[in-house]
Amino acid sequence: MKNLLLTLLFFISTSAIPLVAQRTPPSLDCKPKMQPNVQYNLRQAQIALTENKVAVYYVVPKDAEYVQAEYDAIRNATRDIQAWFQINTGGVTYTFAFPDTVMVYRALENTSYYQDSWFFKITDEMAAQGHPIWQPGIVASLWIKSGRADGLGEGMQACDGYCGVATTAVENFPEFNYFNRCPTDPNGIMWPCVPHGTMAHELGHAFGLPHPDEVDSTREFAFHSIMRAHWNYPNGAPDNLRPWGLLTVERTTLWANPFFYEDISLKQIYDADIVNLPVTGSPPAVSFTSSINNLTVDFSNSTEDAVLYYWTFGDGSGSNEESPTHTYSSPGTYTVTLRASSESGMTAMQQQTIEVTDKKKPVAKTIHVGPIKIYPNPSTDGRFTVTFPPLPFTFRLLVHDAMGQPILDQTLSGSSRSLELDLNSFGQGVYYVRLEMRGARLTQRLVVL
Ligand SMILES: [Zn+2]
Repeated sequence: MKNLLLTLLFFISTSAIPLVAQRTPPSLDCKPKMQPNVQYNLRQAQIALTENKVAVYYVVPKDAEYVQAEYDAIRNATRDIQAWFQINTGGVTYTFAFPDTVMVYRALENTSYYQDSWFFKITDEMAAQGHPIWQPGIVASLWIKSGRADGLGEGMQACDGYCGVATTAVENFPEFNYFNRCPTDPNGIMWPCVPHGTMAHELGHAFGLPHPDEVDSTREFAFHSIMRAHWNYPNGAPDNLRPWGLLTVERTTLWANPFFYEDISLKQIYDADIVNLPVTGSPPAVSFTSSINNLTVDFSNSTEDAVLYYWTFGDGSGSNEESPTHTYSSPGTYTVTLRASSESGMTAMQQQTIEVTDKKKPVAKTIHVGPIKIYPNPSTDGRFTVTFPPLPFTFRLLVHDAMGQPILDQTLSGSSRSLELDLNSFGQGVYYVRLEMRGARLTQRLVVL
């Protein structure tokens, strides 16, 4: 594998964003405690180093309290960000190192010890403890319970592109910023209270993306990128910053990144702008048709000059196949989107609304009314065949509709063998057939579809 930690490609912080007045933090007098269901061991941390993966940690200092709601928010944010990358790259994203997505790391020191350099102190400590930090094959995503009112946001790539670390603080979540640092005014300063955008931005650094305003060729479009305006995540960019997401060159950089894969199945929750800035060629002309058969839809892709396809089916699932077949789990109207990208990263999309139904053909059965058989039931054309064995007596056959209105009243001799009953002209619905013989009355339900 590649050299470990020999090159630190860059180290960039988002702390240049202006700070607003900080209120007095409440005292940290909670006793550290650990939920028994998140007692991971180191062995789990060392499992999956054969592929390039993202290892997500919830880092809790010795004197801080593990909070289940924080853990849950980190797990949800982590999955959101994975989906965000998939849709904004046009169809590729990373996978996670740990089966439960987020591992808890209990830091060895108290919060105050790390305050002057969370990033280096915690990564040194975790690496020394055997966690896969700065190891080729792992980008670590650390959500740190930092004790900092203004949160954290730092990211770095190393190992010649085969490892990296991204950090964001638990305090970046507005609901966990116990310093009341997050604005309630939606037009207020959003930093640090944009945890998803911050982690996605820092992961961008860990995957090798620079700030686009620090590169000549992208300076002009920098604010259209999450690598500059991360607070717009996932799609809150004002009109003058639209389209917003990943720039063309950021997209193609991630395509070449060893952590990014096609065919990652996840719940796709976002739609997203397509950013073709800077212009690197012509976008593909995207087109497709769909053929619907009950809940299953065959898509036929006629797009030309594309190297990457990404379909979202409107039910949360997606596919990188060129012409996929998709089966919906329930009937409904869905918006299907195909994103297609050219070799140079120019992307275009096409949407189509489809309606799928679940017309299960009911199984036609024979019903028995005494010795008499009626087939098929239900009937799709209103016709029923009534058959009966030789009987030594006459009997009466009556049919009425669901409202009790008589339709047929016929007396049949015992030598009859069959009768064609045609309810077609009475329409779809439920009918009742009644048989009267020798004082007995037998009733059965008939259905016309
Ligand atoms: Zn940055």
